[in-house]
Amino acid sequence: MKMSENKQSRVLPGDAMAVSEEYLPGNHAYDANGTIRALQTGVVVKDLQQREINVKSTVVTQVPTVGDVVTGQIEVAQSSTSNLKILYLNGKPTQAGFVGIIFLREERGGRGMRRTAVKLGDVVRAKVISTMNAMIHLSIGEPHLGVIASLCSNCGRPLVVSGGRAQCNNCGNVEDRKFADDFGREPIQP
Ligand SMILES: [Zn+2]
Repeated sequence: MKMSENKQSRVLPGDAMAVSEEYLPGNHAYDANGTIRALQTGVVVKDLQQREINVKSTVVTQVPTVGDVVTGQIEVAQSSTSNLKILYLNGKPTQAGFVGIIFLREERGGRGMRRTAVKLGDVVRAKVISTMNAMIHLSIGEPHLGVIASLCSNCGRPLVVSGGRAQCNNCGNVEDRKFADDFGREPIQP
């Protein structure tokens, strides 16, 4: 199949790419009253043999690597490990569906050992420390890492900072976590 890809021809959804006398709509393209338009953002790829015009997505799936900062929500919380559904990679939204693992034993030790570092549903910022065996190992040890938003276990209202701890203004519940230094700030900075 003969393809021509013109790097200059970047299109946004709805952009006109050709007329239907010239080309048929291929992948991610549609015919709107004789004008072939793009269905998604990408680059224009013309298939000269099939007389098709296609749009190829330029969105590349970024895989978290060591040193990256990720932000997401705790979807499984156990006593020694928690799973973080990664929603942001280095501050940019990702829908790739990566899940990282926080080994909570690594976050303990020394004085001030926490009973609870993270809880189910917490929004957490973490750093990728290893990707061995295709597992994304995360750490929340540094000051800017940890829980950045959390709901009261009692009544479900957002917790607020009060004297270095998180408190619920609704029911008075005080909770312990490994907080990031910007916990409770709005809007959340992923
Ligand atoms: Zn509460």
